[in-house]
Amino acid sequence: MSLAESECSDGMCCFTCVIPPNNGHIGLFKSMWRRGTGSLNVKLLVTSEGQKNELYDSCKFLDFIISRDDKNSALKIDLRCSIYKHRPQQCRGYPDSAGESLYQSMSGPCIFNEYTASTAYKHLVYKREWNAFYAIRDDIGVIQDIFVTEDAHAARELLVGAKDVRLATIQAGSKEVDYILIPLPKRTQNILYTSEKHQPIGTIRQAYQAWEEKIQRNLQNHYGSEWEATLKNAIEMEEKDAGKRCHEDATGNPER
Ligand code: SF4
Repeated sequence: MSLAESECSDGMCCFTCVIPPNNGHIGLFKSMWRRGTGSLNVKLLVTSEGQKNELYDSCKFLDFIISRDDKNSALKIDLRCSIYKHRPQQCRGYPDSAGESLYQSMSGPCIFNEYTASTAYKHLVYKREWNAFYAIRDDIGVIQDIFVTEDAHAARELLVGAKDVRLATIQAGSKEVDYILIPLPKRTQNILYTSEKHQPIGTIRQAYQAWEEKIQRNLQNHYGSEWEATLKNAIEMEEKDAGKRCHEDATGNPER
């Protein structure tokens, strides 16, 4: 199974990063538009060895669609915003504006990039390896909604027989629910990235360079273009003060 070639077709941030509780980011519109096919019936499951599973609900407007590629019979998964043209500012600006506004509760960075990064990167940044699955409620009506081109029973057979797909019963709130688990594909080739800054994380070295650049940008925003001189002066002043304090401690006399 692979992700369809379209913008952000992984949809991970529509489960995790962008959405405040109760879809507060949608404002008034949330009661006026129809729910996406992913809402209620598809969740994002994150697992890590030795830790509790994490189950995320999607945004109300996330469409989850699976179709069969006529050329090679492979299954394609596509997660789309059903209100894309009208999506709120937080979603439009994400992930570039993540964490940069005082007034919006968003977190970054692009979680799909974090997911597809190497195991060594995950151990460095998250101190654990984690895996992600789309968890589709194992219900024939739900499968009919997300598999647009097939008969629901044939679609379920196709889905359950696909490589690495498994069945699981998961505790969701106070209930146990049967799910079909699809490992989130890690290939990034099909994803059309909406951000130039947030491209796949190739290596830890590359990520480190981006972190350094971000720190420098923050310093520049805070202290202006003279930030390097300001920082150097502050370090020198601090060292001089420490030297003075040492001298006073040793002699008992203030330095003149
Ligand atoms: S409004 Fe659209 S882009 Fe924003 S979280 Fe919901 S589905 Fe995703």
